[in-house]
Amino acid sequence: MYRIADCITVDHDIPLLLLAVVICVAGFVASTLVAGRVRGEGHAARWTVLLGVCAGATAWSTHFVSMLAYRTSLVVAYDPILTVASLIVGIGVMGFGCHMAITRRSSPVFRLLGGAIVGSGVVALHYLGMAGLQLPGELHYDLGYVSASVLMSLGFGAAALDTLLARRHAFSSPLAVGLLIAMTVSLHFTGMAALELQLHSVEEQTAAGASRLAIVVAVSLASLATLAIGTVAAIADRHLSNRLAAEAERFRTLSDGAFEGLIVHRNGAIVDVNIAARKLLSLDDSTPTYPLNRWIDGIETPLRPDEELIDEVDVRCLEGETFPAEICRRRIRLADGAWGELIAIRDLTARKKSDATIAHLALHDPLTDLPNRRLFAELAASALERAARTDCPFAMLAVDLDNFKIVNDIYGHDAGDQLIRVVAERITGILGDGDVVARLGGDEFALLATSEVQPDGAGAMAQRILNALAEPVLVDSGGRVASLSINASIGIAVYPFDGRSIDEMLRNADTAMYRAKAGGKGSSRFFEAGMNEALESRHRIELGLRRAIEAGTLKLAYQPLVSSNAREPICFEALLRWTDEELGEVEPAVFIPVAEACGLIMPIGELVLRQACRDACQWPAPMRVAVNLSAAQFKGDDLIDIVQNALAESGLPGERLELEVTESLLIENRDKALEQLNALKALGIRIAMDDFGTGYSSLSYLRSFRFDKLKIDRYFVANLEGNAQNASIVQAVVSMGQSLSMQVVAEGVETAEQAAALSEMSCDQLQGFLIAKPMAAHEVQRFLASPSSRLTGLPRAAGEPEVGADSGATRTHAPH
Ligand code: C2E
Ligand code: CA
Ligand code: CA
Repeated sequence: MYRIADCITVDHDIPLLLLAVVICVAGFVASTLVAGRVRGEGHAARWTVLLGVCAGATAWSTHFVSMLAYRTSLVVAYDPILTVASLIVGIGVMGFGCHMAITRRSSPVFRLLGGAIVGSGVVALHYLGMAGLQLPGELHYDLGYVSASVLMSLGFGAAALDTLLARRHAFSSPLAVGLLIAMTVSLHFTGMAALELQLHSVEEQTAAGASRLAIVVAVSLASLATLAIGTVAAIADRHLSNRLAAEAERFRTLSDGAFEGLIVHRNGAIVDVNIAARKLLSLDDSTPTYPLNRWIDGIETPLRPDEELIDEVDVRCLEGETFPAEICRRRIRLADGAWGELIAIRDLTARKKSDATIAHLALHDPLTDLPNRRLFAELAASALERAARTDCPFAMLAVDLDNFKIVNDIYGHDAGDQLIRVVAERITGILGDGDVVARLGGDEFALLATSEVQPDGAGAMAQRILNALAEPVLVDSGGRVASLSINASIGIAVYPFDGRSIDEMLRNADTAMYRAKAGGKGSSRFFEAGMNEALESRHRIELGLRRAIEAGTLKLAYQPLVSSNAREPICFEALLRWTDEELGEVEPAVFIPVAEACGLIMPIGELVLRQACRDACQWPAPMRVAVNLSAAQFKGDDLIDIVQNALAESGLPGERLELEVTESLLIENRDKALEQLNALKALGIRIAMDDFGTGYSSLSYLRSFRFDKLKIDRYFVANLEGNAQNASIVQAVVSMGQSLSMQVVAEGVETAEQAAALSEMSCDQLQGFLIAKPMAAHEVQRFLASPSSRLTGLPRAAGEPEVGADSGATRTHAPH
C-alpha cells in the first residue's frame, strides 16, 4: 500500500517529477493564454479546440511523465489503445468543459460546471491511463482515496475556471494556473496513493527500462512542443489582435469623424453605426437596436454583389419626425466573412431648405414676396385654361402707382421700397380666394381676379384697391417720418373679350391703365377696342420726341401780344414747333401731354426756357417773352434754378420774362406750387394765368396768388359775337382782372370785330391770328421793324386815336 507522502518523496524519480511540474506549469500558463484568446472576438471555435488540446495535453503529459517518474521498474509497457484513448478523452472532456464555461462565462453556474467537467476530464484521463499500464500483477484501488482524488480534481477545476473567467482581480490568471496545477497534482498523487499492486512474477521487469527513457523524452518533447505552439500562437494572436484593435480604433476614429452617417447592417439588423449616424437616427447607447427599417423604408431589397445604390429617402427619427436624406448603399464583407451592407446617409434637410429658398426666389419678388412676373404668367396661364374650359370670364388688372418716381426722387429709394411694400400689403388685403397679385417690377403690379363674376367684380376690385391706397402711407425717410399720399391708375382687361392670350390680356390691361393715367390719375379704366392705336401713336410720339431732343430739332415760334389800344407789341409768347421725319408736323396740343406723361417735359421745358431767353435778348428792351410752363415742371425741386440759369446764361433781366401757367398747377400740390411761384416772382418775373375759363375757373385760385396777367381762353373770344352770355363772361373776367390789378389778355383774336369788342371791354392786350400767327424766331426782328406791326388797319374801339396812317391792310404774319 502506498500513501501520498511516500508516493512523492520515496517512490518518485525527482528530476522526472520536476520535468512533470515544468510541463504542468508551462502547460497551464499556455492554456490560460489560449483561454484569453477565446475571450477575444472571432475564430472562437478554433481557439476552443486549441485550448482543449493544450489543457488536455498538459494534464495528460503531467500525468504520464509523473507515471514515468514513479520509481518502479514494474511497469512493463503501456497499452497503446488505452494510453491514446486517455489522451483523446482528456482533450475532449477538458475541451468541452472549457467551451461550456467560456461561452457562458457570465453565469457562475456554467463557469463552475464547466470547470468541474475540466476536472472530470483529468480524472478520466488519469484513471484511463492507469488502466493502460501493463504491470506484472494486479492493481487495486482504495476507494476512499479515489473518491478524494475525484472530488479534489472537480473542485480545483471548478475553482480554476471560475477564477479565470470571472476575472475578479489582477491575479486571476496566475491564480487560475495555480488551481489548475493543484487540480492535476492533487489528482495524480492522491490517485497514486489509492493504488495497490499485487505482483505475479519478477522476471518480466527488465524490458521496460529502455523504453521508459525513450517515452519520457518523446512525451516531454511532444507535450512541450504542443505547449510551445499554443503559447506562441496565443502571444502572436494577442499581439496581432492588439494591433487589430489599434487599427479598429483608427477606423472608428475615422468613421466617427465622417460628416455622413455610416451604418453597417446585416439583413436589416444594425451591426455598427458611427457618431454621425447615431445623431441622425437619434440613437444613444441605451437605445435598443431596432431593425433598420424602423428608420428607413425600402432597404429590404438586397443588393447584387457589385451594385451600388444612391437614393433619396425619408428617414424617421425616434421622435416620429422625418427628414429627407440621401443614402448610398454598398455591399461589404463583415469581420466574420459574411456579407453585410454599408449605408452612408446624408441629411438633406439644409440642402432641401436652400433648394426651396432658391425655387421661391425664382418665382417671387424679393422686396414684397409677391409672385413675380414668371409665376404670375404661370398662374394666369392656368386661370386662362380653366376659364376656356368652364366658359367663366376672369379679369386681369394692371396697377401702376402715380408719381412713384417723384417719391423715389424726393424721399429716396429706401422710402420708395417701404411704400411699395405697404402697397403690396394693402392690395393683398383686399383679394378674394383664388385672386392673385404679383409685382411685375418697379411700381407695377398685376392682378388676376377669378373670385368674382366678371367684369363687374374687377371694377369693384379696382375701386377697393383705390380705396385701400387712399390712406396716406407713413415711411421712414432718413430718420424722418414722411406721410405719402399715393394713388394708382388701374387698367382692366376681361377674358375672353379683351384678349385670348395672357400676353394680349396683359398688354390690353396696360393700355387701359395708361388711359386711366392720362385721363386723370387715381382712376381705373376697362380696356376698350381702339385704345391700343392711341397708345401706339403715343409711343411713337415719345420716341420721336426723344430723337428731337437729342438732335435739337425742336424749334420755337413766337406770337406777339399787343396792347389793345396802341396795338404795340409788348410781349412774344414762345410756342413749340416740332416737325418729325416720320410723323410730320405734330401739334403741341398732341405732343405736350405725351411729354408730360413720360417725363420728357422736364428737358423740353428747360430747352424752351433757355432758347426763349436767348432769343428775347436780341429784341429791343423792354420787349418781353412769355414761356408756357407745365404743372409737371413744378413737381421737381429745380425749376427755380433752371429759370435762374436761363436768365443768367442769356443775360435777360427777370422783368422781361413772363411765365404762363394753368389752373391745374394749383389743383395738384398747391402749397409747393405757390412757394415756387413766389420765388419766381421774387426774381422780377411776371406770372400769367393761361387758358382762364376752360378749367375750374375758380376765383379762389386767382386770389391765392397775385397773378400779373390773366389770359382769357380763345374759346370765349371765338364765341364773342352772337353769344351774349360769352360776351358778358368776358366782360366779367376783364372787370375782375382789373379789380385784382391783373392785366387781361384775350387769346385767339381772329377778327377785327373781336378786337374791337375786346377793346371796348377794356381788355388790356390782344393775341391772335388777326395780329400775327406765331412766327419763326428770325422773323420777330423783321416784324418789329415793320410798320405793319402797328396794325393800323384794324378797326378800333370808339374814341381810340388812330395810330400811323401808313398801313391800311389787315395783316397777319405766318411763321411757316
Ligand atoms: P396756349 O398757351 O394757349 O397757346 C396758344 C395757342 O393758341 C397756340 O397753339 C397758338 O398757335 C394758338 N393761337 C394763337 N392765336 C390763335 C388764333 O387766332 N386762333 C386759333 N385758333 N389759335 C390761335 P399752339 O402753338 O398749337 O399751342 C397749343 C398749346 O400748347 C399752347 O396753348 C400751350 O398750352 C402748349 N404749348 C405750346 N408751347 C409750349 C411750351 O413751350 N411749353 C408748354 N408747357 N406748353 C406749350
Ligand atoms: Ca400760353
Ligand atoms: Ca392759352
